[in-house]
Amino acid sequence: MDAWASTSFNRLSGEQSRLHKEEKPVDVTVQNVARSFGTTAALHGVSLDIRAGELIALLGPSGSGKTTLLRILAGLDVPTSGRVLFDGDDALGLTVQERNVGLVFQSYALFRHMTVLENVGFGLRVRPRARRPSRSEIKRRSLELLELVQLSGLEKRYPTQLSGGQRQRVAFARALAIQPRVLLLDEPFGALDAKVRRDLRRWLREIHDRTGHTTVFVTHDQEEALELADRVVVLNNGKIEQVGTPDEIYDEPNSPFVFSFIGESSVLPVHVRNGQVWLEDRPLDLPAGTLRDGPGQLFLRPHDVDVVSKARNGISGIVTTVRRHGGSRRFELEIDQGREHIEVELPESERSLQSSVAVLPRRWRIYQ
Ligand code: ADP
Ligand code: MG
Repeated sequence: MDAWASTSFNRLSGEQSRLHKEEKPVDVTVQNVARSFGTTAALHGVSLDIRAGELIALLGPSGSGKTTLLRILAGLDVPTSGRVLFDGDDALGLTVQERNVGLVFQSYALFRHMTVLENVGFGLRVRPRARRPSRSEIKRRSLELLELVQLSGLEKRYPTQLSGGQRQRVAFARALAIQPRVLLLDEPFGALDAKVRRDLRRWLREIHDRTGHTTVFVTHDQEEALELADRVVVLNNGKIEQVGTPDEIYDEPNSPFVFSFIGESSVLPVHVRNGQVWLEDRPLDLPAGTLRDGPGQLFLRPHDVDVVSKARNGISGIVTTVRRHGGSRRFELEIDQGREHIEVELPESERSLQSSVAVLPRRWRIYQ
């Protein structure tokens, strides 16, 4: 038995396990996909390999092309050029139904006149007779999925009698009921409040680990992407900026865009001369490594710095404001006679700093 069959729905009956083996998660290959709407290019030649069973996040700001790419994968839209392959076979010639993808969108899109149970079984009931399970089988499977999404006991309710988080879990169960080859999720937690979002994030990761679907998750929330995904695809203006594990994306952002999108940052203009990094006329204690001589931008994160009272090769700053920030404090510093500003984050116990300090970056990137 392969890993997929042995980990997926291990509580299901023999007949269903057989179905699951047939409906293995697929590799999804996106080759040079472009999509234009009139003169707007939503995607410019995007290429991406998504491995079977992987949970991948498409992360980018609003308008970066995430939904367009997801709709193309689903078969709800066609690219202007390029190819989409499922397990090496052309998928663009297939309809949404033929691709057998599970879809969950931000708006719950549950059928209001159907109970929870009827909603979950919908995709199976509308199948052509030859592929449609019996009524009792549909019910059994729907109840099992409701157990999986932790909604047992609510099967007779209608969507209006559920919370937002519960409705989204019904939408998941409905998407899973058809035993999709790929699960496509477009900002599924976008309409929920922060606490519910965080809970559902962990919940989704657990469900994914138990069912092993190839899953593409669209979000504009970097925290959500980094916490949830095996790999993150950062999109900007219809192009892929970077693909990597959450650690690679966070620790080695390959462009100023990725650095600033993935977390908070401050930027200072610097100069590299003879293997030395300079801020105005002061040398900084940062190895220039492979940087070439010339101007650059130094990117810092508020929590990745040390602050000391004095350091010969530190970034000297004047403290202008102090704010509470969750369990820590944020200090805003004026650099270079107020021409630049940076933010640093220190433990809550640091109630105040001397007005004049030196900042030593622990982690940083210089882009040229
Ligand atoms: P995201 O999901 O990342 O917010 P979208 O994929 O929805 O971004 O949109 C990418 C770009 O394509 C945007 O500039 C958007 O305005 C444009 N776009 C998307 N769908 C259409 C459409 N049906 N007609 C015209 N422009 C569209
Ligand atoms: Mg979108």
